[in-house]
Amino acid sequence: MKAPGTNGEGALATAFARLIGNFGPISVMRYMGEANAHYYASRDPLGAAGDFVTAPEISQMFGELIGLWLADIWQRAGRPEPVHYVELGPGRGTLARDALRAAAKAGLVPQVHLIEASPALRTLQREAMPQARWHDDLTGVPGDGAILLVANEFLDALPVRQLVRAEAGWRERMVGIDGEGRFRPVIGDCPMDAAVPESLRGAGTDTIVETCPAAAAIVSEVATRLAAQGGAALFIDYGHTEFRTGSTLQAIRAHRKADPFTDPGKADLTTLVDFAGMAEAARKQGACWLGTVEQGAWLQALGLNARAEALTRAAPTQAAAIEAARNRLAAPDQMGTLFKVMGLAAPGWPAGAGF
Ligand code: SAH
Repeated sequence: MKAPGTNGEGALATAFARLIGNFGPISVMRYMGEANAHYYASRDPLGAAGDFVTAPEISQMFGELIGLWLADIWQRAGRPEPVHYVELGPGRGTLARDALRAAAKAGLVPQVHLIEASPALRTLQREAMPQARWHDDLTGVPGDGAILLVANEFLDALPVRQLVRAEAGWRERMVGIDGEGRFRPVIGDCPMDAAVPESLRGAGTDTIVETCPAAAAIVSEVATRLAAQGGAALFIDYGHTEFRTGSTLQAIRAHRKADPFTDPGKADLTTLVDFAGMAEAARKQGACWLGTVEQGAWLQALGLNARAEALTRAAPTQAAAIEAARNRLAAPDQMGTLFKVMGLAAPGWPAGAGF
């Protein structure tokens, strides 16, 4: 038997191995939360040289259309001031920069608040958005003034809790160490039946129910802010609009799927977002759900094709690259249907374009 943790030379793998060796398996939720905190804190994961590419990094069109969406709903709500642009997990700050450049042309110049846990990414965001203020969470965002919030590929990085139907009943899915010193999913000891919605309790052996308490908590907090302060929010991510059973946990490393239980902290761990659950959480706090639609259809409705044509007229030599980016953002076999856009607004605010 190899020494525990030799499957990942990293400090986090060693710490997990010691923890599990001394106290037994840890929950998938803890494993994912600590792995991602470690992963994001230490690097810029975006771009060709990194692990994955996000929509704002594909084309300026993505952020621009989001900025125009925000300016449009803000104008139709009567241009309330003060107004705050809030972004959760802004990556390199590219979306914020593109969105606010487009919004300014439409007369919207908000205060900028970026919620970011990673010191490495905060440094990059400061270059893109020097006027911003940074916060660890939403509590630092002012309590007065309308909120225009955007979160792209943020919810999918938050840790999920997995419950698995064992012979004896529902248990939490945990991470242990096998005889080879590798991290492996195992079934926990404590009964968790009460945590499973009644409609799912009778599901067959090995069924996995995945929930994301952190995502539900953040969406609830955003909805509470919208109801109290006015405003609108866009959550964009890959996910499904109807709840499904099964584990969606995956690791992405160097643009490929990897084993989530190998090398914790060295790959991006993500799951599909349960948009039905998110809409429910928002409605409970008194926000209006504007809808959850496919990213491709939403961008088209906002004028993606016209924007691509305008950019091509301004830079004809870039025509092929602009067309490739348009396709990547909107085509059904690319990001167009897997990615969804969920819109929320304060009660009394107008409906959002594209929903
Ligand atoms: N929105 C960006 C980046 C997506 S990657 C884009 O579309 O390009 C996920 C982002 O969320 C990163 O900025 C990461 O550092 C941040 N993040 C992940 N978990 C977080 C947490 N718990 N609190 C704050 N930020 C977090």
